[in-house]
Amino acid sequence: MQRKALIAANWKMNGSAALVTDMTTALTPLPLDNVDVLVCPPATLLNRFSAERNFALGAQTLSQESRGAFTGELSAELLLEAGATYVIVGHSERRTLNFETDALVAAKLATAVTAGLIPILCIGESLAERQQEKTQQVLARQLDAVYASQPELLAKSVVAYEPIWAIGTGESATPEQAQQTHAFIRQHLAQYDAQAAVGVKLLYGGSVNADNCAALFQQADIDGALVGGASLKPAEFAQICLAVTKGAKD
Ligand code: PEP
Repeated sequence: MQRKALIAANWKMNGSAALVTDMTTALTPLPLDNVDVLVCPPATLLNRFSAERNFALGAQTLSQESRGAFTGELSAELLLEAGATYVIVGHSERRTLNFETDALVAAKLATAVTAGLIPILCIGESLAERQQEKTQQVLARQLDAVYASQPELLAKSVVAYEPIWAIGTGESATPEQAQQTHAFIRQHLAQYDAQAAVGVKLLYGGSVNADNCAALFQQADIDGALVGGASLKPAEFAQICLAVTKGAKD
């Protein structure tokens, strides 16, 4: 099955109004017909992007609540109004630093879908879990928490495999390692909804850059990337977006 590629930038707590301009300038001339490109800046910058652009916007998290006395939180509705159409859910930094549990991640993903945002569910194992050969067990737990009781959400989701040991470390998974894990994820997703599992985009995230992306994009079950550090460099991010349009799979 031909799945349209998706390249997503996660700026985390970085960026500026100047980067909004620079990224827009870098992406605008690109022929992005065969790839969906997404930029997830800090929420305060969403409004700074022009409506005239050839890429989508996303948020980095959302509240599971729709409104009310939740100081500092942002609802799906507010993010949509600010221009987001996607939202990252369950990034490992939020699971660790903000104590987001599997149950909370599941609730946030459901809230996103109900509101009309496309969630990008992040899953991934730590280095210790990989060394103990628990990768598949951890990924299965993270997926089951979201989809076992709400399988209908799979068809409306993107899933990003982000091994924690590869995030921001400069040590990417090898294309073979990533493909093996993506194949496992797709197979596991099939038990919730076989048709949706074939169509769902699986992104790889973890130290993706202009040098290593092409080999990753060649892999059968890798449909794009979630890019952190390299997404703060407009020229390099543009190269990554172009690489996926060139990389016809074998
Ligand atoms: C991320 O944080 O989602 C990420 C993949 O970061 P990096 O590309 O910097 O490893």
